[in-house]
Amino acid sequence: MHAKVIIVGSGPAGHTAAIYAARANLEPEMFEGMMAGGVAPGGQLTTTTDVENFPGFPAGVMGGELTDKFREQSERFGTKIHTETITRVDLSSRPFKLWREYADGPEDKPDTCDALIIATGATAKRLFIAGEDTYWQRGMSACAVCDGAAPIFRNKPLVVVGGGDSACEEATFLTKYASHVYLAVRRDALRASDIMAKRAIANPKITVLWNTHVTEAKGDGDLLSHVVLKDAKTNETRELEVSGLFYAIGHTPNTAFLSGQLETDESGYLLVQPGTSLTNIKGVFAAGDVQDKRYRQAITAAGSGCMAALDAEKYLEELEAEEREKKEKDNSKL
Ligand code: FAD
Ligand code: NAP
Repeated sequence: MHAKVIIVGSGPAGHTAAIYAARANLEPEMFEGMMAGGVAPGGQLTTTTDVENFPGFPAGVMGGELTDKFREQSERFGTKIHTETITRVDLSSRPFKLWREYADGPEDKPDTCDALIIATGATAKRLFIAGEDTYWQRGMSACAVCDGAAPIFRNKPLVVVGGGDSACEEATFLTKYASHVYLAVRRDALRASDIMAKRAIANPKITVLWNTHVTEAKGDGDLLSHVVLKDAKTNETRELEVSGLFYAIGHTPNTAFLSGQLETDESGYLLVQPGTSLTNIKGVFAAGDVQDKRYRQAITAAGSGCMAALDAEKYLEELEAEEREKKEKDNSKL
């Protein structure tokens, strides 16, 4: 298949890009992924319950319902959606080449496109401790900003795992709702920047648990009520009563399939020209969490998806104009 625009990824960034590209008659084709990065088509929002901060839903909306609506809107304007994962690309020349999972061998024919929008998101790292299968989204979360205001966390003790800026920021954020916040740090120092670390440590509602691993989540089978802590130095264990366990141990951007063909930062996030979706390769655009390690929200992902589609549209117009000029020049030589 050849398309003017291919969008890889199906979260709010990918679908917003699709809606804009389709309405601009670019006939986009989307690869929504098949459990790519361990996430269902629709992206990270499919893993959550109430989304209360996406404008347009004053009573909140379930994550799955919101992603279904995104998909419906993309299809309504003519985006073709393939439930497949892209596992290999060749961006060295135009048209860009993409291979689908299970058809990515040396003999397999790629799909091609003139412009490519990468919106593959990022996956929050998890610890997969005992009890996590039972209590995930029943007291356990990887997004304090998203889930912290839920009634089950109000005026309850909570624990955040991690020692970076995210952990400090999320612990501080959670003090708005929690009775107390514990910050479980696996060694005797924080990785966070000085200012964030100082702010967290000085907060009377935060207690830092140094050299501490969280090794198990416990509860009544329905909601989390305790965690098991292990002292990293003595290996002693103890239980701590908490209603919430938040991971803030970093994210992994879903960029492995690009095998280093686009510039990234040291953590693998795609680099774009500030204020745009332009990557270092002309015609390749990035949107959403795959290029954003700071905000990581559905609305910011959607906004950057819109930017990517508009940037792709402009690029294709310029490409067409260049080709027209070249043809005219060639014709005038004859
Ligand atoms: P993602 O949502 O990460 O989607 C990317 C999609 O691309 C995935 O479906 C993935 O499978 C697919 N994909 C990846 N690689 C490939 C590939 N190679 N080929 C094809 N497809 C691929 N934000 C809020 O604003 N409000 C909230 O309440 C909220 N709650 C959250 C709760 C949880 C538990 C989590 C984890 C996040 C939450 N967020 C929330 C954050 C929000 O979900 C993300 O910021 C947003 O989804 C990022 O959108 P995205 O389009 O960049 O990518
Ligand atoms: P990060 O800087 O990579 O920190 C991850 C933290 O999690 C580290 O403290 C790490 O411990 C800990 N950790 C990792 N694996 C763990 C495990 N298995 N068990 C227990 N702890 C574990 O990630 P981040 O905090 O998400 O920040 C990512 C980037 O975004 C950084 O550049 C950060 O500055 C930036 N950011 C900035 C802001 C802001 O400025 N407002 C806010 C958030 C993020 P070790 O230290 O022992 O490795």
